[in-house]
Amino acid sequence: MTDARLKHYGWGREGEGMSAEERNFVLGRYRRKFAREEFDTIAVPRLEDLALPAPRITAPGSLAAFCTSERYDRAAHAYGKSYPDYVKAMHGDYECAPDIVAYPRNENDISAVMDFAGSEGASLTPFGGGSSVCGGVEPRVDGSRYKAAVTLDLRHLDKVVEVDRASRAALIEAGTYGPSLEAQLKPHGVTLRHFPQSFEYSTLGGWIATRSGGHFASLYTHIDDFVENVRLVTPRGTIETRRLPGSGAGPSPDRLFIGSEGILGVISRAWMRLQPRPKFRAGASVRFKTFFEAARAVRAIAQAGLYPSNCRILDPAEAYNTGAADGSVAIMVLGFESGDHPLEPWMARALECCSDHGGTKEKAEEADAHLSGAAGIWRNAFIRMPYAREFLNPAGIINDTFETAITWDRFESFHDKVRAATERAILEATGVRGEVTCRFTHVYPDGPAPYFSFHALGRHGALLKQWQAIKDAASDALIEAGGTITHHHAVGRDHRRWYDRQRPELFAAALRAAKRELDPQGMLNPGVLIDP
Ligand SMILES: Cc1cc2nc3c(=O)[nH]c(=O)nc-3n(C[C@H](O)[C@H](O)[C@H](O)COP(=O)(O)OP(=O)(O)OC[C@H]3O[C@@H](n4cnc5c(N)ncnc54)[C@H](O)[C@@H]3O)c2cc1C
Repeated sequence: MTDARLKHYGWGREGEGMSAEERNFVLGRYRRKFAREEFDTIAVPRLEDLALPAPRITAPGSLAAFCTSERYDRAAHAYGKSYPDYVKAMHGDYECAPDIVAYPRNENDISAVMDFAGSEGASLTPFGGGSSVCGGVEPRVDGSRYKAAVTLDLRHLDKVVEVDRASRAALIEAGTYGPSLEAQLKPHGVTLRHFPQSFEYSTLGGWIATRSGGHFASLYTHIDDFVENVRLVTPRGTIETRRLPGSGAGPSPDRLFIGSEGILGVISRAWMRLQPRPKFRAGASVRFKTFFEAARAVRAIAQAGLYPSNCRILDPAEAYNTGAADGSVAIMVLGFESGDHPLEPWMARALECCSDHGGTKEKAEEADAHLSGAAGIWRNAFIRMPYAREFLNPAGIINDTFETAITWDRFESFHDKVRAATERAILEATGVRGEVTCRFTHVYPDGPAPYFSFHALGRHGALLKQWQAIKDAASDALIEAGGTITHHHAVGRDHRRWYDRQRPELFAAALRAAKRELDPQGMLNPGVLIDP
């Protein structure tokens, strides 16, 4: 990690952001979409102008070496990166800022902070990179049950501790950010190859806690597939699961903690399964007349057992927005990679599946096709887009995403219902026609993971209400049509109402019982996943 601080508002580090050219490209798309030359743009308050509530508690001397109540630290840990997080921060609303931010250096420090938070009746929020997009890291204080809030930032647990070459696995500390993790593995000739879009500014512990989805479009879709064991510090003690390549010994303890979103304990380290660095690559971009034709080709590929590393499709509007096409065609970005064998036969068969469904390969297949053509343009936009929100929100533009999964038999009607409900809600909430686009992020033999983006012209003063109305309509529609409220963004607090409809009630009771056992005071992330 470089020396520049992470921004307290926005994406990445202070001083980073989109170039003027990139901003113009993005804003140009919105100018055309909403037929406006200018947007009503407000200023985001500077850090020094924020009014933070006075800290309600002070860290004792024994914790002072790694705890702080400085303005920057409190502001930078008040929110994650969801749309409402950005809007509240843009309006200078920092009521929820933690009283203390702790930067533990080891498990003893984590336990000491748990004891202190417990003794003060404070809530405790585990914090990785803070890239949560579902209200996962906002501290909770309510004055009665939670008298104060402590946030536990794991950035100093940042080492690859051991690499086991024979089993191709590594023991990695939970606060390790993506780039540092890969840099430490590189000398060993191995890689985790888990690249969520937030890779640069998110951590291993956050990925495990949220069951994040990486760049493999099939087979190893979630971080779950790479977790060999986990170690967790809880208010009741430390738990470590057994390192095994597989096990049939009852319900898996790993599975209880993967996706526990910080409510059962703090993940401190994990043994992770690694991949060889790819030596062989095959990539192509394929054009289709319609999104559904592209989807049928994806289904054929997913059911042929080819397991492409990339198999994303963009609908025409999504392809246009990222600059990958002119808006008249759907695009498939297809890729295979291996550290062991050439991939031509796999690519040839996948392209046959595409042409069976009307697909036309864009250009000759090349080893670096993932970096060129429509695939390359889409890839660059994918990496740079997170910076756009910090100037789109002040311009009153509501742009957000939601993602889900659904079986193939229901996909087409599901897509149409969710899209129509979201478009209708945008018009009703804002009075202006918006746009809803779709791509696939991950694919399975039995169904895709559709990822929707929506764009609306909001009104300052009403942005949160307008966003909520759109989010409610989209979430209702996807739950009613049989999808999941999240395929990889997690539940947090924002998805609770729909998660509560999706998960069986007795399962929630069992989860609550597990939480009571591990976190008897209910201090960890109250309101996330379940009520204590
Ligand atoms: C621009 C952008 C792109 C994104 N792209 C993707 C993507 O491609 N795929 C994807 O899956 N998600 C994506 N996300 C969502 C987010 O990055 C993931 O949920 C990620 O896994 C969160 O990691 P983090 O380290 O930032 O965790 P945080 O945001 O800090 O925390 C997330 C949750 O996990 C808990 N937590 C964090 N660390 C620990 C720990 N060590 N022990 C216990 N609990 C912990 C927190 O309390 C919180 O509830 C994206 C977000 C943004 C803003």
